[in-house]
Amino acid sequence: MIPDHTLTEITDRLDMVDVVSGYVPLKKRGNRYWGLCPFHTEKTPSFSITPDKSVFYCFGCHKGGSLYTFIMEMEKLDFVEAVRFLARLVGIELELEQRDSSRRDAYLELYRRVSGSLHFLLSSHARAAAARNYLMSRGVSQDTLNLFQLGYAPADGRWLFDFLSEKSYSREFLLESGLFLKDRKGSPRTLFRDRVIFPIRNSRQEIIAFGGRCLSDYGPKYLNTPETPFFRKGENLFGPPGVLKRIRETNSFILVEGYMDVLALYQGGIDNCVAPLGTAVSVGQLKLLKRYSENGILLPVEDHRLWSFLD
Ligand code: ZN
Repeated sequence: MIPDHTLTEITDRLDMVDVVSGYVPLKKRGNRYWGLCPFHTEKTPSFSITPDKSVFYCFGCHKGGSLYTFIMEMEKLDFVEAVRFLARLVGIELELEQRDSSRRDAYLELYRRVSGSLHFLLSSHARAAAARNYLMSRGVSQDTLNLFQLGYAPADGRWLFDFLSEKSYSREFLLESGLFLKDRKGSPRTLFRDRVIFPIRNSRQEIIAFGGRCLSDYGPKYLNTPETPFFRKGENLFGPPGVLKRIRETNSFILVEGYMDVLALYQGGIDNCVAPLGTAVSVGQLKLLKRYSENGILLPVEDHRLWSFLD
């Protein structure tokens, strides 16, 4: 069995037009790419790709399907072989993915649980009063706070590790989760301390990492989960839940600088906006966006100006 997330990851990281162009010369016309069908003989192109849907279809012989179907037909492979063929192109090891599947489930479960706890703290705990005040002063509404499931990580560096150890997570697993660092004495400390937490979701809407904005003068203003086996910074974006689907529906996206810009636009009624994860935008992030729409606006406006613009 090949895990679903692996299939999504492979197609997220490949551009269907690039792959198919290796077999069929394609030309862009309107919203589609066209070429001579490799599955029947013809003189005028009726084979087409709708890149934002990642499917091919031939109006002559009515063959159609996903990138996997295309490779199965062209290379005469069965499904698993076709997946392996494409996985190799993006450097994913299928055997490793299959073996890591239960660790990945545990990782996602951990992030879901921690995100829920930190959200609860932000919403109702006395210790999070300063964090709530900060968000309110920036105009973030309670609805936005709930929808993005923003959280608060307390200043106490031991609390989270102890809390999770009591839930029977192993020390080794927690140390590899990206949530903890070791202090000088080798004891685990929470990476995010006294910070507002922004959950980062992958294209399957699973929380895979956090961004944290500090409230005190301690450490950098923004901090992200480091790369883990299940989180690649350069291939994910921050946006409202379901943002990639919205980008496909509206066939456009707005790329802003930071997490707070995304919240500002969202509250202004714009829900197809995304931000890179605390670094400059990467090729992987642009490739991901391009799969959903080729129409993007870059909005490098300083966030305080954005907020006043929307008031
Ligand atoms: Zn055809």
